Amino acid sequence: MKTRVCIVGGGPAGLTASLYLLRAGIDHVIIEKNEYGGNILEAISIKNYPGIVDISGREYIMCLRSQIDLYDGKFIRGSVTNIEREGDKFKISTKRREIVSDYLIIATGTKRLSSGIEIHNFDNTSFCALCDGSNFKGKSISVIGAGNNGVDSAIYLSNIAKDVTIFSDVDAPSCDHTTYEMAKNIENIKFEFNAKVTDVYRDKLVYQKDGKEVEFETEGTFIYIGFTPETEIFDEVKKDEYGYIYVDKNLKTSVDKVYACGDCIEGSFGQLVTAQATGAQAAISVGKELRKCAF
Ligand SMILES: Cc1cc2nc3c(=O)[nH]c(=O)nc-3n(C[C@H](O)[C@H](O)[C@H](O)COP(=O)(O)OP(=O)(O)OC[C@H]3O[C@@H](n4cnc5c(N)ncnc54)[C@H](O)[C@@H]3O)c2cc1C
Repeated sequence: MKTRVCIVGGGPAGLTASLYLLRAGIDHVIIEKNEYGGNILEAISIKNYPGIVDISGREYIMCLRSQIDLYDGKFIRGSVTNIEREGDKFKISTKRREIVSDYLIIATGTKRLSSGIEIHNFDNTSFCALCDGSNFKGKSISVIGAGNNGVDSAIYLSNIAKDVTIFSDVDAPSCDHTTYEMAKNIENIKFEFNAKVTDVYRDKLVYQKDGKEVEFETEGTFIYIGFTPETEIFDEVKKDEYGYIYVDKNLKTSVDKVYACGDCIEGSFGQLVTAQATGAQAAISVGKELRKCAF
């Protein structure tokens, strides 16, 4: 199969890039290995998307899909396992197909780091303080992970919750000094070091400390042991030490005709609105380059 543009990843960034390309009449395909929608499908309640007061991630993606479905999009289900150059084009391979494309937009987002934590119930468990924090007003909650994300989120949550306990499996925080000092001085934040959380239930968590198993009652748990970008598929583009792809202001990578957008790019803000903004920008940039004129 031949196409002008191939978008890899059908999360919010990839879908938005597709919408812009469709509306510009630019032939493209969008490839997704799981369900279209990406990480936002897990959001119970999105309250920070401008113009929409409150919507679940799934409902939001349904709206976006129905908007895209007004046009004749080419959706392909499959996991891209390899991308290589073929002359001045790219050959994109999934298990079943090969697609040859002039341009590439990488929108593969991030996945959770595997953790060794067993989540027995997702009801009171979240991965996003900014998104779900307001559901825990006045409650005693926990944050797992004392890196910058975890401690920053605990600081944010301390203004909403009754108290916040931060669990870390090592003996010191891995966040920066200023963040730690700030958190330490907040009365309703407590640190529990050398405590390796193994299980999360609706109303308690279990951790290992000094060789003993300890149960801890909690009304909510936020897990911050990290995300990692899914960018292994194309090694030619320049990435930072964690694998986030470097892009310029037009979302262009270090490789000609390859663009990247969304949470997988270096400096991404990890938000729906920002992922989609870069998706739109990448599509517009590709359009400009393809047509050698304004989009
Ligand atoms: C639980 C949760 C709640 C959240 N709530 C909010 C919120 O309320 N507000 C907010 O602003 N943000 C929220 N976020 C963040 C938001 O979901 C992300 O910023 C957004 O999804 C990023 O979009 P993306 O398209 O860049 O990446 P992703 O959502 O990660 O999508 C990338 C897609 O690429 C696909 N993919 C990866 N590799 C391949 C491959 N090799 N082949 C084919 N497909 C591939 C993946 O399957 C995935 O569908 C939340 C995140 C989580 C986890």
